[in-house]
Amino acid sequence: MAYKDQKLVEEKVFKDPVHRYIHVRDQVIWDVIGTREFQRLRRIKQLGTTYLVFHGAEHSRFHHSLGVYEIVRRIIDDSFSRRPEWNHEERLVTLCAALLHDLGHGPFSHAFEKVFHLDHEQFTQGILLGDTEVNAVLQKVSADFPQKVADVIGKTYPDKLVVSLISSQIDADRMDYLQRDAYFTGVSYGHFDMERILRVMRPAEEQAVIKYSGMHAVEDYIMSRYQMYWQVYFHPVSRSAEVILMKILHRAKDLYNNGYVFSQEPVHFRSFFDRTFKLEDYIALDESILLTYFQLWMKENDRILADLCSRFINRNLFQYAEFDPATEYRKIGELEQLFREAGIDPEYYLVTDSSSDLPYDFYRPGEENERLPIYLQMPNGELSELSRSSDIVDAISGKRRTDHKIYFPKDVLEEGKEGNPLFERILALLKK
Ligand code: ZN
Repeated sequence: MAYKDQKLVEEKVFKDPVHRYIHVRDQVIWDVIGTREFQRLRRIKQLGTTYLVFHGAEHSRFHHSLGVYEIVRRIIDDSFSRRPEWNHEERLVTLCAALLHDLGHGPFSHAFEKVFHLDHEQFTQGILLGDTEVNAVLQKVSADFPQKVADVIGKTYPDKLVVSLISSQIDADRMDYLQRDAYFTGVSYGHFDMERILRVMRPAEEQAVIKYSGMHAVEDYIMSRYQMYWQVYFHPVSRSAEVILMKILHRAKDLYNNGYVFSQEPVHFRSFFDRTFKLEDYIALDESILLTYFQLWMKENDRILADLCSRFINRNLFQYAEFDPATEYRKIGELEQLFREAGIDPEYYLVTDSSSDLPYDFYRPGEENERLPIYLQMPNGELSELSRSSDIVDAISGKRRTDHKIYFPKDVLEEGKEGNPLFERILALLKK
């Protein structure tokens, strides 16, 4: 029997707190899970620094990747399997893409990518197509199979229905992370009736659509996404931790470039500092390595690096204040000046950060990040865009919410303010 069709003698199951069980029957899927690049995802947390706010949020990208695979497996094997619009030949490539869609995420992805100007999607492609164990398994299916999986993840695959299961406004990725992140953070938002959504999902030519009778379950899903973004993903305190993390990497990079002699040499980061890194260097990194450096760097001679590391490790984070860039752009300049006068480097200790989200978007062809809307299949068979039928979705549709904050070490300012008008002025400005 061809490798692509081989089934395990006995089905394997992973116990999962969100989906109860993750079922694996295909030999290919089992082999992919066993590769070192996939196992690496156990050492990358799904929510980065969020565990410093919601202490339960220690779950990894490994959990989430298996979860996305399981949702896609249920859609294909249960909801789609006997429908003529679904092409069975696409089953394995869809399952592999679901499992591997986050393969290129690095340690504390967001912060790491920003500081080193990297893109995890490029690393996902790199690991799928490079000299890796994942690539070797996928090659056994067929020579062009790794590229097919990469195309589904990169959204260039010709069968758009397949792509929509992994990335669209109602895809398996979102359905898994919303529920999983709600479960591990312990918040009460983020839950919705996924079983119902899977039951009413139908394959159509360009994407999966939802039977009209399932509209309220989809409304619930969109609202839970909206709530999760503002209550969990953009939580100002976990953003503060992320700001500090970015500043640690930033400081280490600046010190390295200026010839500073580290007592703990940044061996794992050197190739990123001078941009000579190879795929291997990236795969070798994980969050425990970063945390080890942060622990050791708490004793570095450089005061800024040592202080930032100690803040991160001991959770002594920056405070924040609201700020409106449209009307208060002068305030930042003024604050920077005052910080310098007070002997606090604003480059590391005065940070502005913005978060922004669009809960749901209707179709705006040609605009950047054009998003495919969710379509309802009406009783007469016609498709209708969700916000036309749902008043709730219509109310939040296309509305971007953005939030700006300034982060700063309030503890330092409070300590220094006794009899120092400069510090008092800074604090007064930040209070406004
Ligand atoms: Zn994902």
